[in-house]
Amino acid sequence: MILTVTLNPSIDISYQLEDLAIDTVNRVIDVRKTPGGKGLNVARVLNDLGESVSASGCIGGELGDFIVHHLPETIEKRFFKIAGDTRNCIAILHDGKQTEILEQGPLVDPDEADGFVNHFKYILDGVDVVTMSGSLPAGMPDDYYGRLIRLANAFGKKTVLDCSGNALKSVLEGDDKPTVIKPNRDELAQLLEREVSKDVDDLKAVLNQPLFAGIEWIIVSLGADGAFAKHYDTFYKVDIPKIEVLNPVGSGDSTVAGIASGLANHEDDQALLTKANVLGMLNAQEKTTGHVNMANYDNLYQKLVVREV
Ligand code: ADP
Repeated sequence: MILTVTLNPSIDISYQLEDLAIDTVNRVIDVRKTPGGKGLNVARVLNDLGESVSASGCIGGELGDFIVHHLPETIEKRFFKIAGDTRNCIAILHDGKQTEILEQGPLVDPDEADGFVNHFKYILDGVDVVTMSGSLPAGMPDDYYGRLIRLANAFGKKTVLDCSGNALKSVLEGDDKPTVIKPNRDELAQLLEREVSKDVDDLKAVLNQPLFAGIEWIIVSLGADGAFAKHYDTFYKVDIPKIEVLNPVGSGDSTVAGIASGLANHEDDQALLTKANVLGMLNAQEKTTGHVNMANYDNLYQKLVVREV
C-alpha cells in the first residue's frame, strides 16, 4: 500500500475562454472542477498504474467533501478534517495562455497540526511507502514534514518528499531524512541560490554537497531531458526519446508515483528510474493533469536508457 499526503489540497477549476476581458464580465461554458494538489495527482497516477493507494491530507468544509466524492472509488480516502474550508485554485485558459488565481487555503491551527500527526501515525499501519507533496498550509511550521518523516522512519516506512523552498530546506538541514527527494532544476537553484545546469559534472557536484548527505536517493527531473539521479554513491542519467507533449503539468507528480511504486515493489535502480520517467512522459502526453494512459507504457518503456555516469 502506498500512502499519499497532500496537506493543502484544492479544487482545481479550469475555465476555457476565447479571450479574457479585464474589468468586465466573462461568461464561461467550458468548466471543469477536479480534486487538485500535487499529492492527489500522485494518488491518481498510482491508481492508473494499478497500485493499492490511500490518499490523506487536511480537508475542510463542502469543498473538502467534494475531494472525497470525486476521487476514483479505488483510492482509499484517509483524510483529516479541519475547521477551515479547502481552497479553490482557478486556471483560466485563454488565447493559448494560462492565467491562474490560487487561493492560499485554510489556516491550520497548532491543535489541528498535532491532530494530523496523530492521524498520520494511525494510518501508517499497513503502508509500505509514503509520498509527501506540495506546499505546507498556512499555520504549519517549516519543519512539519520533518515530523512526519521522523514517524515514518520510526515505523520503517520509506518516504518520498516532493516540496520546495523553506519546507525542503528545513528537512535537508534536519535530522530526519526522507528516502527520496525529487527536485527539479528550478527547485535546486532556489535552494542553493545559484544556477544549476544540465551538465552531468555540475549536477554531480551539486548532489555531492553536504546539504544532501544522508538521503538515499536524489532524483532530479529534467523535463524533456529526462532525469539525473544519485543512489547512495552511484550516479545515473536517464535518457528519454522526444515525444509529442500535450500538457506537462503534473509530470513531476507522475514521476513521484513511479518512484513510490518502484520502492514498494523493491525494483532495482534501472527499473525504478525507468518507471518514474515513463510515467512522467505519459502524463505529459495527456491533456488531463495527473493521468496516464497505460496502453502506451510498454512501448515507451523500451525506449529509455538508464546510464551509470
Ligand atoms: P516537474 O513537473 O516536477 O518540474 P519535470 O517537468 O522534470 O517535473 O517532469 C518529470 C518527468 O516527466 C521528466 O523527468 C520526464 O521524464 C517527463 N517529462 C516532463 N516534461 C517532458 C517533456 N516535455 N518531454 C518528455 N518528457 C517529459
